[in-house]
Amino acid sequence: MKIKLILGDQLNIKHSWFNQVDDEVIYVMMEMRQETDYAPHHIQKVIAFFGAMRNFNIELKSKGHRVQYLTLDDQNNKQNLEENLSKIFKQHAADSFAYLEPDEYRLDKQLKIFCKTLSIPFEIDDAEHFMTSRTELTKFFEGKKQLILEFFYRYMRKKFNLLMHLDQPEGGQWNFDKNNRKKWKGSPKIPPPFIPDANNLLALKKIIEEQGVKTIGSFDQECFLYPLSRKQALKQLDYFCEYLLVHFGDYQDALHTDEVNLFHSRISFALNTKMIDPLEVVQTVIEFYRENKENIELSQVEGFVRQIIGWREYMRGIYWKEMPNYETTNALQNTNPLPEFYWTAKTDMNCLHQSISNSLEHSYAHHIQRLMITGNFALLAQVHPDAVDEWYLGIYADAIQWVQITNTRGMSQWADGGIVATKPYVSAAAYIHKMSNYCDSCKYDKKKRVGENACPFNSLYWNFLDDKKEFFSKNNRMAMMLRLLEKIPPEDLEQIKLRAAKILKKPDEF
Ligand SMILES: Cc1cc2nc3c(=O)[nH]c(=O)nc-3n(C[C@H](O)[C@H](O)[C@H](O)COP(=O)(O)OP(=O)(O)OC[C@H]3O[C@@H](n4cnc5c(N)ncnc54)[C@H](O)[C@@H]3O)c2cc1C
Ligand code: SF4
Repeated sequence: MKIKLILGDQLNIKHSWFNQVDDEVIYVMMEMRQETDYAPHHIQKVIAFFGAMRNFNIELKSKGHRVQYLTLDDQNNKQNLEENLSKIFKQHAADSFAYLEPDEYRLDKQLKIFCKTLSIPFEIDDAEHFMTSRTELTKFFEGKKQLILEFFYRYMRKKFNLLMHLDQPEGGQWNFDKNNRKKWKGSPKIPPPFIPDANNLLALKKIIEEQGVKTIGSFDQECFLYPLSRKQALKQLDYFCEYLLVHFGDYQDALHTDEVNLFHSRISFALNTKMIDPLEVVQTVIEFYRENKENIELSQVEGFVRQIIGWREYMRGIYWKEMPNYETTNALQNTNPLPEFYWTAKTDMNCLHQSISNSLEHSYAHHIQRLMITGNFALLAQVHPDAVDEWYLGIYADAIQWVQITNTRGMSQWADGGIVATKPYVSAAAYIHKMSNYCDSCKYDKKKRVGENACPFNSLYWNFLDDKKEFFSKNNRMAMMLRLLEKIPPEDLEQIKLRAAKILKKPDEF
């Protein structure tokens, strides 16, 4: 009997493994404590993963495949890969084993070590999801000093012939990023989010709780927005094309108190669990654009395509290029603890309160909330990247280490010393006010740097630049910020730094 392992983020029904039914193959899927416990995960994340795995099990069986599925509360579940697999091998007198390339370094290593102990042959197959191989980005940038996303993105556009006219970009321009910076002020109207037909998930929630899995955040069946099958994921994609794509690019960077999703697709969970694949997503979106050119501008579509074939593939390439060293990088030598309010949303800083509340309620925040609110504050507060990673890895349903750590440690915290981002994404209140309405209903004054009601982002921003100026002294992209810092009179800077020190000492009091 051949045993083939399917991990929780490998729910790709189109994989060649499933092209034919083979009675000599048993597919194995398991809900395990090793996966629920390596970080404190959001309850919706655990429900979403197990819910999607359970549906995948049903789908495989309905197609005639043999599947052994271990639920979390199964008496026979040893709760870790090695023991479960060893037991299953014995049970079925396994004569060979196969697994799909895991996307996480942790699981990749665990399975490689396990396979060394095996007396039966094993093989590792391609997961058939990404548009690039693990090492393609490394080869692409061989000999280059900087790994510039834009070059990689153009290579991907050409390689897959997406939005191209011969070898030129459609519309005469590769990138419409500058068009993607509108503030949303109540219009255009934002359609309600796509609500998938989910199974009743309360029974699953009960099992997770009864097994004592430690989770964060809340769960409300009515507000659960994760598709748990390929069919639902495709519907979510169609919904995006039909209702959201038209303004996606324009409001990509916008933030608003009344809106959790704006025009974002919320497709990351379906993508990261491989229920749908990136090429089909961008091809569907481009096809929809071609059929609706009179209503949809190229800039909306290009913005979306860039996120998926550019950023998403780029982050995966960086991960495999830089791991395992990446997970211990801390270029700015930050050591502060993460404020407690990241777990409760109890803070008077309205931008943080809104973004963290969203995250706790929905296991979701859109990119700019992650980057320019929670990430920005953590960096300005000089929090240790380990603590920042732990939070991001647990709280978002789409968080799998390959895409979480590169975004968090790399793009957001600059802990990798500039591999992903040429300069740190930090800002004071002015940017937050420019892109949102958060400051309008905030206790703090967005214009003030010092004084009791001064916005904490302002003093922390200048304090950060002052503390880290040595690190950035040779970084051309930081030159303007550092020149502005130099222009602050010493006595003002001293006051700013006193205010920052007070905030850093007890951030939970702000
Ligand atoms: C600090 C931080 C942590 C993040 N952690 C994760 C994570 O754990 N998992 C995750 O999938 N994304 C992560 N991102 C990237 C991005 O924020 C999410 O992919 C996005 O918010 C998901 O929502 P959406 O599907 O509505 O995205 P949309 O805005 O609709 O974008 C479409 C798709 O593009 C892809 N995409 C967009 N930006 C990125 C990016 N920077 N990196 C990789 N793919 C991208 C995603 O697959 C996304 O679904 C993180 C970003 C930051 C700044
Ligand atoms: S004033 Fe400062 S703390 Fe308040 S919402 Fe604006 S940026 Fe955030």
